Amino acid sequence: MNETGMENRKPAGGTRTGRPRARRPDLETLYTINEDGSRNFLHPADVHGKWQVRKNIVWALLLAFYVLLPWITIQGAPAVHIDIPGRVAHLFGFVFTSQDFYLVFFLISGMGFALFFVTSLWGRVWCGYACPQTVFLEGVFRRIERWIEGPGERRIRRNQGPLTLDRFWRKAVKLSIFLALAYVTAHVFLSYFIPVKELLEVVRSRPGAHPTAFFWSMFWTAVLFFDFTWFREQTCLIICPYGRLQSTLVDADTITIGYDRQRGEPRGRKLDSGGDCVDCFRCVAVCPTGIDIRNGVQMECVGCTNCIDACDAIMEKVDKPKGLIRYDSERGFETGKRRSLLRPRFAIYLVLLLIGASVFTAVASRRTPLEVTLLRPQGLPFRIHDGRIENQYTLHVQNKSTREMIVLVETTEDPGMQALEDASGDPVHIDYVVPRARLALPSLGDSKIPLFATMARTDFSAPFEHTIVLVDSLTGVRREFRLPFRGP
Ligand code: SF4
Ligand code: SF4
Repeated sequence: MNETGMENRKPAGGTRTGRPRARRPDLETLYTINEDGSRNFLHPADVHGKWQVRKNIVWALLLAFYVLLPWITIQGAPAVHIDIPGRVAHLFGFVFTSQDFYLVFFLISGMGFALFFVTSLWGRVWCGYACPQTVFLEGVFRRIERWIEGPGERRIRRNQGPLTLDRFWRKAVKLSIFLALAYVTAHVFLSYFIPVKELLEVVRSRPGAHPTAFFWSMFWTAVLFFDFTWFREQTCLIICPYGRLQSTLVDADTITIGYDRQRGEPRGRKLDSGGDCVDCFRCVAVCPTGIDIRNGVQMECVGCTNCIDACDAIMEKVDKPKGLIRYDSERGFETGKRRSLLRPRFAIYLVLLLIGASVFTAVASRRTPLEVTLLRPQGLPFRIHDGRIENQYTLHVQNKSTREMIVLVETTEDPGMQALEDASGDPVHIDYVVPRARLALPSLGDSKIPLFATMARTDFSAPFEHTIVLVDSLTGVRREFRLPFRGP
């Protein structure tokens, strides 16, 4: 094993003893990629400490949350469910259809600015604690790997040695469990898109019975197996755009994980070297992205806190105060001054977050489960027949709730007649013909209701609006709707 805790198959140069010198992390290259482009596979050393305990608690809660959320129902529908073919989304009791797509803008921008806001305060706390990639990789897959193949140092030794029976069976068992877990995780992911009961049915059926669902389950199983078995931190370093954005979101007052250079330098293996850092490389050995935090804040740091716990343990051993690596702001590390929350970046992200969240909440809460849209026929908006003006309408009625509706069309308290006043204030009378005045609408169903309104030509003096009422007879929900009446 080398001191950086990695397989490091491409050592750079040699030492005076003739042994290859381990390549050390620097700011110029990605440590997990060798010079020839091959992978330098990481085996972070095990670490224990208070931050690991906190993370384990958060991960356990989040794992339960991610797995159980699609099983929880609110008003008969899954708490979170996105039906792509049906173009319907269920979100904690709200139902959104394709007509509500504009709300996605506010939802996504609100979530994006929430992430920006949190990052400007606490750096990549999302990556270290809550990102599903971290939760599943560190909380499940890496943990199983440790149980089967031992701690990082032993795994490196074994991988660099010959293929013995011991190494073979451990690898075989690990990969089999990883494959099974990738299959389960893929189905957890799919359960956000396919209702759980249908998904269980798909699992029990032969592949040909549900070819599309089968394809996606195999596709995501393969992707997750590849990701959690081999690709791992490369997802964060190469694919995830958030890590790249990080440097534009943080400033000198953002709380990130960092190394106290003032206290640590000059570093040295001897305790009397001047600084508190004993250059033990323990912080590098435990890092899941293979960086040396002592080089400063880096894009590859996912805020996992491993180096804090590792360094605190070393400080305890050498009888020095903990916190050489800790959460602090750049200003805090340099000057020891208190950090200020009130700064422009913080305020701008907060305002943008509040705008997105407020618009989304206001518009979403004003939506009605009984959606009505007027579809006017093409051509003239009216016709004259037997001395009467006739306006024809088509109402597109949509049930956006999770239960059936019986919709009644009410045109007046005295059916067939509605008393109105025209522009001059004179009373006018409209007759209605509603071929389908009662309509059963299943959950998320829609239908079209034709409607005719007529009035005597002699009564018409100017265009006006009249009101019809749609009532869900099961719940009494009423929706008044204004219709224009046009004439010659
Ligand atoms: S530098 Fe520290 S906090 Fe950042 S990824 Fe490495 S171990 Fe985790
Ligand atoms: S773990 Fe602490 S003491 Fe050891 S090298 Fe890292 S910063 Fe220095």
